[in-house]
Amino acid sequence: MSSNKASQTSAYYKEPGPKLDKESPFESMMERFRFAADILKLDEGMFQYLARPVKQVIVSIPVVMDNGKIEVFEGYRVIHDNVLGPSKGGIRFAPDVNLDEVKALASWMTWKCAVVNVPFGGAKGGVRCDPKKLSQSELERLTRRYTANLLEVFGPDRDIPAPDMNTNEQVMAWIMDTYSMNQQRTETAVVTGKPIILGGSQGRREATGRGVVTCTLAALSKIGMMPNKSSVVVQGFGNVGSVSAELMYEQGAKVIAVSDISGGYLNKEGLDIPAMIRYMKENNNSLEGYSEADKISNEELLELECDVLIPAAKEDQISRHNADKIKAKIIAEGANGPVTANADSILEQKGIMVIPDILANAGGVTVSYFEWVQDRQGYFWTEERVNRRLNRMMRSAFDNLYKVSGEYSITLRQAAYVYAIDKVAATLKLRGIYA
Ligand code: GLU
Repeated sequence: MSSNKASQTSAYYKEPGPKLDKESPFESMMERFRFAADILKLDEGMFQYLARPVKQVIVSIPVVMDNGKIEVFEGYRVIHDNVLGPSKGGIRFAPDVNLDEVKALASWMTWKCAVVNVPFGGAKGGVRCDPKKLSQSELERLTRRYTANLLEVFGPDRDIPAPDMNTNEQVMAWIMDTYSMNQQRTETAVVTGKPIILGGSQGRREATGRGVVTCTLAALSKIGMMPNKSSVVVQGFGNVGSVSAELMYEQGAKVIAVSDISGGYLNKEGLDIPAMIRYMKENNNSLEGYSEADKISNEELLELECDVLIPAAKEDQISRHNADKIKAKIIAEGANGPVTANADSILEQKGIMVIPDILANAGGVTVSYFEWVQDRQGYFWTEERVNRRLNRMMRSAFDNLYKVSGEYSITLRQAAYVYAIDKVAATLKLRGIYA
């Protein structure tokens, strides 16, 4: 790629136009995609190809509930592309899952895999349901029927699901079993994020948070800051947020605030993160009632004075409504899409370094790739080996994008899109269009 300062005037670049209150995640993704396509002077046909998912499946999932009544849920699987390899991406269970969101998330998986040089395309799935209202056996029936409806889509060489919001190792075990029963052989590589005993990988559960921290440490060093002199705020205390908070705490950082759905917890002297994790585990996975901190709202938490802000909860948390009030020096996007496209330029003007989701949280899919490799080889690695390789891949992806951002005078997010789109487009060009 040659050096080329960004211009925003091509056919692809649409002025954002009147701002909507709630930004569509797919439109947020497209806005960034257009910007990068413009820099790359991407051929119009290539643009059209990469803008659309190759497959979008909507399934109806009837479940016999514990009370004997049938309830029908809606499920989705979107394959954005399979240019670099089989498509890869998690499955989320949430009441507000919809096709627009799943399409955006599937595209992000394509760019994410390209950014960390993992040989997968991008996909995402979801079921619109409230998992908190389902019993364990209802959840199992829902998962198995969703998998059964997608037997022709999934496969270790075709499309490989993984955990995402509200899905866990147990859900992955049911997917693996349902697929395997239908194939009449055990096929562990059809899904990642499985329990270790079923062919899961050491370090997979912590991988996303670990990758967030690798990138955060790299970013801190770029701005000349020591981790043990930095203050950190983490939004979300699930798998990604709690591990990120814990690893930053282990680095000697002062984690001054964290939050979960029960709200935010602030202690300017620094929170005792291991104690909070213990508390959460003993308290039904909630921080509700934790007393060694001041209670604040999730909104207040985002606007705290700090060096590093890690939004690790959900989409659309930093938008044009509050971007102006963010005081962090670095934002490391643990969640997918926590900053809307409309907020990007506001943060850029404020000089905040944003480590984009498709880099910051790519540790999860990187270790998913390791898991798939291990399953296919039937040879399992130590946790130390997994973490070492993860660290190496994340660090080299960060350094690479940092270089691209310097070459084009663009943000890290724009650099991530430029690098990823260039890579996928170059691969597609070599493969050609099958007629
Ligand atoms: N759901 C995770 C993500 O958004 C992991 C995907 C995977 O491991 O395939 O990156």
